[in-house]
Amino acid sequence: MKLSTRLHRTLRIAGKMAWALLDRHHPVLVHLIPMRRCNLSCAYCNEYDAVSKPVPTDALLARIDKLADLGTAVMTFSGGEPMMHPDLDKLVARGRQRGLFVTLITNGYYLSRERIEQLNAAGLDHLQISVDNVEPDESSMKSLRLLEPKLKWLAEHADFTVAINSVVGSGVRNPEDALTVAKRARELGFMSSIGIIHDGHGQLKPLGEREMKVYETLRSYSRSGILRFNHFFQDNLAKGVSNEWSCRAGARYLYVDEGGIVSYCSQQRGKPGIPLADYGKADLRREYGTKKSCAAYCTVNCVQQTAILDNWRSPQKAIAMLPLRPRVPSTAPAAAEVPAPTPASDSVLAG
Ligand code: SF4
Ligand code: SF4
Repeated sequence: MKLSTRLHRTLRIAGKMAWALLDRHHPVLVHLIPMRRCNLSCAYCNEYDAVSKPVPTDALLARIDKLADLGTAVMTFSGGEPMMHPDLDKLVARGRQRGLFVTLITNGYYLSRERIEQLNAAGLDHLQISVDNVEPDESSMKSLRLLEPKLKWLAEHADFTVAINSVVGSGVRNPEDALTVAKRARELGFMSSIGIIHDGHGQLKPLGEREMKVYETLRSYSRSGILRFNHFFQDNLAKGVSNEWSCRAGARYLYVDEGGIVSYCSQQRGKPGIPLADYGKADLRREYGTKKSCAAYCTVNCVQQTAILDNWRSPQKAIAMLPLRPRVPSTAPAAAEVPAPTPASDSVLAG
């Protein structure tokens, strides 16, 4: 990556974060879903289906324009698998034209040299991949061995920054795999982060002894490349302890699903349940002040990171009573066709 590109990007994001600190009534991060469908079926995921079509491009362009009008700083394409959308590059380019910092969460399967060059040309700022294990298993095909060629192409050709998220916790067969993944990320010059998977019912559960050892080792990498701003949240989650914080979802973070409906996050879909087209400053102000009853046991990394900008100000008053357990998306196939619902996905883990 050219030094000038890197410098320009750093200045852009620094400016956006400075503005986010000064002005509390605009979204800092929005996850926008262009495609609910996914080519994979990770056992811990509750955010995909196997059948849905891409969201029409015109509808997505209108949503991007609306997000820009609301003053959004960072827009992340998530899914499902967003790289299955045929016009993804056009969507990335529109986000950049409208002044957004544009990022992508992908499972990496659709990356090729050519696709990386196309994403460069569209102006993508950042890409994030979760690598769950070293060898594929029944729980996840996002393995280091299968993704290795893609990671090398990214290292050689990407003009955008890349982060690899490794995971520990329930359902991961070899916790030590996370160390191998983080080491490889560093060798390739990528940022890395760690996500904690909890049990299949969304319950907060302390990490076992082996997992905790791995977590602590990864945590010690923080001075040399692990990308994470919410260490204290993660530390408590690893120990199975709840967190005291103000969730600003609906204000500082928005989850815009494939129908264009704004939710607090992927795990609280349907609340507040307002179409993005109708979402305005009054909604942002109201939700900024709304305390979410699920906050203590929340595992949604990206919302916690966003909240750090505001943790020093504004107590919350109104209370939104939200279920502690994750909901199965209404668009998901019948229960028999999908893995058991869990609180995790690429976007929840990697933020
Ligand atoms: S975690 Fe990501 S790759 Fe796996 S099924 Fe869910 S959306 Fe697809
Ligand atoms: S699950 Fe987490 S991010 Fe979502 S509304 Fe509750 S506290 Fe906020």
